[in-house]
Amino acid sequence: EWQVEKEVIQRLVNKYNEINAKDAERFSDFPISKNTLRGLMEAQYRQPTEIQRQTIGFALQGKDVLGAAKTGSGKTLAFLIPVSTQLFSTVYLFLTPVGVDLKNESEKIHRTNIIICTPGRLLQHMDETAAFHASDLHMLVLDEADRILDMGFADTINAIVENLPKTRQTLLFSATQTKSVKDLARLSLKDPEYVWVHEKA
Ligand code: ADP
Ligand code: MG
Repeated sequence: EWQVEKEVIQRLVNKYNEINAKDAERFSDFPISKNTLRGLMEAQYRQPTEIQRQTIGFALQGKDVLGAAKTGSGKTLAFLIPVSTQLFSTVYLFLTPVGVDLKNESEKIHRTNIIICTPGRLLQHMDETAAFHASDLHMLVLDEADRILDMGFADTINAIVENLPKTRQTLLFSATQTKSVKDLARLSLKDPEYVWVHEKA
């Protein structure tokens, strides 16, 4: 069964270099898995928004992406779809609300596929949780980059990025393109695709 699964995945991956985002009108125009497509349909998501249309293809191809588009434009799915296609095995979704017991987290964090957290908490685990290794991280997503920087977390992000493998893929999303966002992009992205969706007049 695992063999069949591997063949299905390989068939999708083989289509990555034929992605034609310009003409993609529906999510099914992208080579994403049946399960992901089914999930999107069930949630009534049929057509990608502009930021999704312009970034999903690059992200599937393994490229670093800086995506900027206003709040409400659909940036979450722009990174969740590529993330979900990377996960071929059991998923442990690990949400980190503020105030969760650090010890409880520390026991789970080393057998987790996705970590969603604030910069401060991630750096704390990097510093204090012995079993936590980020050395085989595949993908880093920095969402709300402008807000993270506005809140004074530039040094925290820089320290996190220094602890991560250079071979990773990085997606950075922001509602605005400030100078500090561009500085962060220079430090954390490698040869990125810049996608800036302008507000319609
Ligand atoms: P952003 O992060 O850019 O502020 P969100 O990802 O939070 O935007 O999405 C804003 C809203 O748009 C959400 O309610 C989401 O469910 C909806 N949305 C996102 N993508 C689509 C889509 N392809 N089709 C319809 N609605 C969508
Ligand atoms: Mg958002």
